[in-house]
Amino acid sequence: MTDKPRVVILGGGFAGLGAAGKLKKAKAEVVLIDKHDYHTFQPMLYQVATNLIATEEVAHPLRDLARKLPNLLIHRATVTNIDLAKRELEFQEMAPLAYDYLVIALGAKVNFFGVKGAAEYAFPLYTLPDAVRLKYHILNKWDAADKDRSLIEDGALNIVVVGGGPTGVESAGALIELYRGNFIHDYRDMPAKDAKVTLVEFAPNIFSMFKEDIQKFGKRALEKRGVEVRLGEAVTEVTPTRVHLKSGEVLKAHTLVWGAGLQANPITKTLGIELQKGGRIPVGPDLSIAGHPEVFAVGDVAWMTDTNTDQVLPQLGGPALQAGELAGENIARDLKRKEREPFIYFDKGTMATIGRGAAVTQLPNGMTMKGKLAQFSWGFVHLWLLSGGDARTKTVIDWSWAGVSRKRIARVTIDPTEK
Ligand SMILES: Cc1cc2nc3c(=O)[nH]c(=O)nc-3n(C[C@H](O)[C@H](O)[C@H](O)COP(=O)(O)OP(=O)(O)OC[C@H]3O[C@@H](n4cnc5c(N)ncnc54)[C@H](O)[C@@H]3O)c2cc1C
Repeated sequence: MTDKPRVVILGGGFAGLGAAGKLKKAKAEVVLIDKHDYHTFQPMLYQVATNLIATEEVAHPLRDLARKLPNLLIHRATVTNIDLAKRELEFQEMAPLAYDYLVIALGAKVNFFGVKGAAEYAFPLYTLPDAVRLKYHILNKWDAADKDRSLIEDGALNIVVVGGGPTGVESAGALIELYRGNFIHDYRDMPAKDAKVTLVEFAPNIFSMFKEDIQKFGKRALEKRGVEVRLGEAVTEVTPTRVHLKSGEVLKAHTLVWGAGLQANPITKTLGIELQKGGRIPVGPDLSIAGHPEVFAVGDVAWMTDTNTDQVLPQLGGPALQAGELAGENIARDLKRKEREPFIYFDKGTMATIGRGAAVTQLPNGMTMKGKLAQFSWGFVHLWLLSGGDARTKTVIDWSWAGVSRKRIARVTIDPTEK
């Protein structure tokens, strides 16, 4: 216990880490709490699911941070309630904690939009456990079909990916490369080239946030690699072995990857304030909650507006990191009795990768890049953003090896319950 004000940061994602970094020199006790003891680099989760890189490469120990930030304490605990009036937090595994300042950076979770069977049988790709679960599910399906060929006819190897945004497109692209580049050789006596990856998107195009040339390039690149792209179509029901579409068609597939939507962390409901679309917390220009200047909400959990453009910012890593940094800075400014700053987002562009040599980038001035150059920029930016030198080195080695050999070294099944 200290007599310094206590700043609690909930969530060790991009937004939480951004806030903690800016409080390094603040005269405050800073406490970062996350239900995991690692930071997850979500943009590369699909590479874990498709065996391109090892699990640890997208997870960085949060406690490493404490070495760099001397005023920071880290607890691994799950927050269950935020009491704005009492300025107190409740947790599943530890005693309640009071705060003077609070930064809510709890991210989002998948939204199944009430589709029947999706919560039970679909595979979301939002957390590291999600990626590991999908990876083992696919490896196990191929091994099961290897022993019982009747499963192939039943669709055991087919995958349906829902959602034509970056998560769905990147996942579909990586899955088809895993199938056509690796499994075709791994299971050479199976009809591996007949295994299907189908992308289902309700809108008339994929990549709706990008310009038309990128949308067309993305669709062509997926189809060239062997993905069947179904536009203007929606999933209405999921069972363990079938995917029902709005048109009435039923697809045989034992795997449905859900990349179709997000909602804010449900903890937001405990705040007792009016929430925005998707349960996101509305914040003012300084990123604090109306009537609670001591509470900030940042990143995917928040409904944040760029002060210059008045645009609501998308749930992406860039806005989360920059907003987290400003929340930390504004608390530090309060402690120095300086005026707070408004949030102005510095847009560095949006990028996504579809497969080897096929990435897309759209810069804020509208300029677009496609193909190998865009993939080079994608790789550079993602490596730069990856926390931790170790993870960066391992990823470079895995990517380089995969680039030369087309091998996916993480293609191994480890059962932790095996004795
Ligand atoms: C598959 C995928 C690909 C993506 N690709 C890109 C991309 O290419 N470019 C890009 O800019 N963005 C991308 N994004 C989006 C980007 O990753 C998110 O916008 C960003 O991670 C949001 O940061 P955040 O800090 O708000 O939330 P998060 O990173 O989700 O962090 C929230 C933290 O809160 C913790 N937490 C949650 N609930 C609790 C609780 N009850 N108690 C305690 N702790 C809790 C979690 O463990 C987590 O560490 C992608 C996202 C996904 C899922």
